Amino acid sequence: MGDYIIVFPKLYCKKCDKKYKGRFDANYEWCLSCQTNNLKQNFTNWTSGNEKIDNLIQEMQLEINKLDDIIFEWIPYNQFNDIKEIGEEGFDKVYSAIWNDGPLGFDKYKNEYTRNLQDIKVALKLYSGLLNEIKEDLNKYYGKIFGISQNPYTKNYIIVLENGFSRICEKCGEIKEYICLLCYKNYLKKFLFNWSGNEKIDNLVKQKQLKINFFIDIIFEFIPYNRFNDIKEINRTNCTIIYSAVWNDGPLLHNNKKWARESNKKVSLKLYNLQNIDEFLNEVLKLLISFFFGKYYNLFFFLSL
Ligand SMILES: [Zn+2]
Ligand SMILES: [Zn+2]
Repeated sequence: MGDYIIVFPKLYCKKCDKKYKGRFDANYEWCLSCQTNNLKQNFTNWTSGNEKIDNLIQEMQLEINKLDDIIFEWIPYNQFNDIKEIGEEGFDKVYSAIWNDGPLGFDKYKNEYTRNLQDIKVALKLYSGLLNEIKEDLNKYYGKIFGISQNPYTKNYIIVLENGFSRICEKCGEIKEYICLLCYKNYLKKFLFNWSGNEKIDNLVKQKQLKINFFIDIIFEFIPYNRFNDIKEINRTNCTIIYSAVWNDGPLLHNNKKWARESNKKVSLKLYNLQNIDEFLNEVLKLLISFFFGKYYNLFFFLSL
């Protein structure tokens, strides 16, 4: 007989009390309905000066459904420096430029959108034609567009794209998304050094760590019990007890292009009183599978003993 623990995030939004919807939302306290409301409330704080463009940008903003989605914006032309022509695409010219303020990104520590990537290099595609052309390109470059701008002198509209049409990592040669995941997995290893000493548990944890696909993926890890404070019993059944607790180190998050921990994170602990470690691993695998199929999507992230 022994006690085994799985660690869960809080499942309800601090602000609106609704249950988090998306797969990783609870882990990062990112609430779709709160974020959509924030964007709507901000509609009056910006304008392109053209109603059709404003509507288009508003529509694009309200399409967000996860925390690493780009917040599509109206970007004033005076935000760009060092504009250089780099090529042509059809009848449209493409420029490189430095965007002073940089894009909005969800800060996983502050739990709000901030601009932490200043002076980033972007590509500007300039349109000689009509709004329809821009709309077509919004689909073509979906997920790579920061927003729309306009040259105030020529009145041409511009879409602002992520820099780098090259999708090959300069370091390792692998195909990358915004940042190279392979290089980041290697970098990540520096932060993970707690092991249970039980081969079965450690193998499971290692397997899960190697499977990250996106920067919002949770980092599954072994957490020594002495990393928890303020442990309070909340609920008890025959073979499980639920506690609330504060995790000193907190989860490992990818934020502003680097990995770091969000300390003093409030979590729930679920303690299982089971015969042996295999029974516990079965419970963990059951959760992992239902997690994978989205059934209990924001259930858990970490494992402790
Ligand atoms: Zn909310
Ligand atoms: Zn790489």
